[in-house]
Amino acid sequence: MESAAAKQVLKQYFGYDSFRPGQDRLIEAILEGRDVLGVMPTGAGKSLCYQVPALLLPGVTLVISPLISLMQDQVGALRQSGVPAAYLNSALSAAEMGDTLYEARQGGYKLLYVAPERLTAPDFLAFAREAEISMVTVDEAHCISQWGQDFRPSYLKILDFLSLLPRRPLVSAFTATATATVREDVVRALALREPFTLTTGFDRPNLYFAVEHPSSKPQALLRLLAGRRDKSGVIYCATRKTVEDVCDMLCAKGLAATRYHAGLPAEERQQNQDDFLYDLKPVMVATNAFGMGIDKSNVSFVIHYNMPKNMESYYQEAGRAGRDGEPADCILLYSGQDVHTARFLIERSREAAPEEGLDEQTRAALLDREYERLRQMTFYATTTDCLRRFILGYFGEAAPVSCGHCGNCDTTFEEVDATLDAQKILSCVYRLAERGLHFGKIVVSAVLCGSQSEKIEKFGLQSLSTYGIMEEQTAKRVRQLIDTLIDRGCLQSDAERHNTLYLTPAGNALMRGRDTFVIKLPREKPPALKAAEKAGAAVGTADSTLFDLLRDCRARLARQAHVPPYIIFSNAALSDMAARKPITAEEFLEVRGVGEAKADRYGVPFLETIKAYLREKD
Ligand code: ADP
Ligand code: MG
Repeated sequence: MESAAAKQVLKQYFGYDSFRPGQDRLIEAILEGRDVLGVMPTGAGKSLCYQVPALLLPGVTLVISPLISLMQDQVGALRQSGVPAAYLNSALSAAEMGDTLYEARQGGYKLLYVAPERLTAPDFLAFAREAEISMVTVDEAHCISQWGQDFRPSYLKILDFLSLLPRRPLVSAFTATATATVREDVVRALALREPFTLTTGFDRPNLYFAVEHPSSKPQALLRLLAGRRDKSGVIYCATRKTVEDVCDMLCAKGLAATRYHAGLPAEERQQNQDDFLYDLKPVMVATNAFGMGIDKSNVSFVIHYNMPKNMESYYQEAGRAGRDGEPADCILLYSGQDVHTARFLIERSREAAPEEGLDEQTRAALLDREYERLRQMTFYATTTDCLRRFILGYFGEAAPVSCGHCGNCDTTFEEVDATLDAQKILSCVYRLAERGLHFGKIVVSAVLCGSQSEKIEKFGLQSLSTYGIMEEQTAKRVRQLIDTLIDRGCLQSDAERHNTLYLTPAGNALMRGRDTFVIKLPREKPPALKAAEKAGAAVGTADSTLFDLLRDCRARLARQAHVPPYIIFSNAALSDMAARKPITAEEFLEVRGVGEAKADRYGVPFLETIKAYLREKD
């Protein structure tokens, strides 16, 4: 019965016909009066898990959320859907704060978003002690745990606040961080009472993952963007400098790109972020400072221009694509240099923020853990196996051997026996070591290819027996083989000494013919444009001309209402609209993502657009 009411709310306010996996069970538990903990990946739809029950429970639901931008976005979207909602945070003036509290006292809101530091402020407490609060929801609940990646001391006030209320409301908590340690810590720190806990799978089926190893990243990026005109996306770079360079390059090519990093003045950051959210500049070039709390649902690609430090960061950043459930691409442009940059950033962050009170041993252990995470990230960037399986495995989930929907599953690799080449390389390193010499892969590959260079002259390397024995191959290919030998543990690259190469016991065995070296090489160029083409095709069947007209209509309405376009309707809603071509109000309500409030407010202009289009077509 409860779920029937919940479904009715889902349709009426949010315009959806069915719940996503896990949403219904969490909502049911809440409506039965239980505390809950929901762990779902970014984009899975955690908000509805508390917004739907909030509309069914008596009184008001308080939502604790860490970021102002996040609250504003959510409240804006709720109001568009006809839900009475408001927020209280430091962005409001004293007068606005007073007005909001006054309205809240009259029972004017079903959802009230509150910054954690406000909870114990006297005026808010006075309100809360009088009000009928059915539920307190803690969004981004991992912020309460010191084990999480984003601990916020102000979250500790939540428990104090709860203890000051005359009657304890039910408490629901949501996060995308799944480690068991953090989960247990959240339950403890919020004193959840026998919570119904649900962890959904981490897979995001609409995301297409690919890794490329381009010889020129700028060219690769321009090629990827050329296939994605009119689409919105984020390009993540490792450093501020790279953000500047990449953004300049794109702007010089006439692309509507903007930038974001912590080194820019606050006003420019805000302006650039708005340009992106409002689709004025569909491409955002940014460091990892960008994205937390940004809920733009129509991001259709996330390209990593550099490899991040760990899989947690990668999956979170890549996961900002395709929140609307539409096909979206997550592409990593990898080069060996990224590993050095990542190491550098890890070392620098350690120096900048020496953990207070941590002894040397603990700090060393933390650093080791970060290097291990980087190693796993590098495995992802270099594996030839299914990328989705790698990601899910990393987060502790089983997956089939091949997903059929990632760059590696789409590429046919052929197995090549490269034992002889490997032995040549290993012998070269061995012969150099005999002379007491150790070099990195540039010099080693130059020796093998028989190049002439200053270093080779200076050390008299032409006299080595391995000089020129791989003459027929390109230095690039030899360097790739060296990378693979490092990955397989046959060579070791010493980061402390300019990445000079050393033979390992495994490498020694291979050199002496006690092992074979089989590698996988792509048979054809990886079809990196696949997902974009597939996505294009999907919209194509939904009538792409009409889709464009509907998008123009949405842009016009968004300008009038001063809200970002995706708050009016998601791209998923527009493509469903373009496929169904509704011409009556009832038919309009059938469209996925169209609720009653939005149908009332926006139905006419969209129906007019569709009718005009159909007339013209006939
Ligand atoms: P999360 O907080 O888990 O990262 P959100 O709550 O922001 O995710 O939801 C992501 C997107 O999914 C939103 O655009 C939302 O409208 C959409 N969504 C959520 N639930 C459903 C559903 N049952 N059917 C269709 N779309 C949904
Ligand atoms: Mg969320």
